[in-house]
Amino acid sequence: MGDDHSQVEQNRSVLVQAIGGAQAGLVAIGAAHSANVACVETSEEGVIEGVDGLVTTVPDLALLGLGADCAVVTFADIESGVVAIAHSGWQGLVKGILSASVHQMCSQGAAPESIQAHIGPSICGQCYEVDSERAAQVAAVAPSAVFESRGKYGIDIALGAVSQLSELGVVAISSGECTSESTRHFSYRRDGTTGRQGAAIVLRKAPA
Ligand SMILES: [Zn+2]
Repeated sequence: MGDDHSQVEQNRSVLVQAIGGAQAGLVAIGAAHSANVACVETSEEGVIEGVDGLVTTVPDLALLGLGADCAVVTFADIESGVVAIAHSGWQGLVKGILSASVHQMCSQGAAPESIQAHIGPSICGQCYEVDSERAAQVAAVAPSAVFESRGKYGIDIALGAVSQLSELGVVAISSGECTSESTRHFSYRRDGTTGRQGAAIVLRKAPA
């Protein structure tokens, strides 16, 4: 998505159409690299600041997350009718945004074993070199996300997300795409000032 405001609005309406419409509107994660999750029932606020996870049980209310190297993770428990979206980079892994999102879903009636999670494109361990301090923080919560080669460290966000979710009993599928290597994705690490890609999820009512 581009930076220009009207372009963003336009992209949002394209996205809503692409997911088959959202009669109850669309609400987006503000993204604060936090472990804060909000339950939403309306799209009134448009963007909810200070959170990195949104959960809803309201049909046709779309949840949107944006990122550029951070992963946007979508969650659905079809059986109980609970969906969620989360935004996680290394800080989200450390603070536990994915676990917080799953717990919030469960408080709304979901069960971990019924949740399907999808991890969107994010930066890989080869492209995301970090210092030893950051690597150690992530290794403490998701050891498989951290790579070391000749004294250099890298973090793979998607691998961290998969391992954290599997510890919770949630099966997660990763897109496997690295935002920095892919020419069709925005990457903060690669480009500095950049747009963000998004993912959205919407719960449909069962056909009558
Ligand atoms: Zn990469």
